[in-house]
Amino acid sequence: MKLPNDFVFSQSSLQDFVDCPSRFELRYIEKMRYPSLEANPPLMFEEHMRQGARFHTMVQQHVAGVPADALAKSVVNDETLSAWWATFIAHGLDGLPSQRHVETTLQTSINEYRLIAKYDLITVDPDGRVTIIDWKTSRNVTRKTTLEKRLQTIVYRYVLAQAGAYLYNNNLIPPEHIKMVYWFVANDGETVEFDYSTEQMQADKEYLSGLISDIADANLFPLTADTNKCRFCSYRSLCNRGDKAGDWDDFDADEPDTVDSFDVDFDQIAEIEF
Ligand code: SF4
Repeated sequence: MKLPNDFVFSQSSLQDFVDCPSRFELRYIEKMRYPSLEANPPLMFEEHMRQGARFHTMVQQHVAGVPADALAKSVVNDETLSAWWATFIAHGLDGLPSQRHVETTLQTSINEYRLIAKYDLITVDPDGRVTIIDWKTSRNVTRKTTLEKRLQTIVYRYVLAQAGAYLYNNNLIPPEHIKMVYWFVANDGETVEFDYSTEQMQADKEYLSGLISDIADANLFPLTADTNKCRFCSYRSLCNRGDKAGDWDDFDADEPDTVDSFDVDFDQIAEIEF
């Protein structure tokens, strides 16, 4: 199998490959989407996804200038979303500088493929420090050791260091000036934070390059041996890994990440760096 030259990698597609090569093949090569439920009961799952997406839209609108009160009034009969919004307004933008770039998409290249990252918010301090903020609506705070290995943490910092000049007076951002912050709105704005460094950026480059080579050279995309990965996967029935969705009480993801290789609108990308 040969990937098309215009294939676009993202943190979500790379994470899918790491979690299960077969899921990557089904989702990004065969482009087969959501044949079955991801969690049970479906209404709670869908409601959580809707609330997460709506919360992100409200933050985007607020950072763009829509008053907080007007947005609060737009939430009707939704205690969870109202509580998240109150938490965000109380501390969500605390200490952040006024140079804020909301819903920014950047891309770089690696092994001749595009690698794209879509950021909730990037802020630039007058002293040159740059912070990536990612709003998380999961019910629990994810452990730092888990987040450290997530492709999101690796890809977001790497792409910003490679392609963030657009936000930084046309200069590359020194990795030591980059910080990534996960902000958990359902947990009173608790944060998990990661610094960055030149050494880490080099290690990330080697890791991402190896991963993309593995995918580009792959002839087979095996099913994961870790059947835990199948519990909330929409391809369970295709793979004969069970016909019952995982229990909602055990599900703890965010709203779906919509940046993948086949629904990117390249006109919306703020900057292209190669
Ligand atoms: S059900 Fe399991 S084996 Fe099949 S794609 Fe999903 S994670 Fe992979």
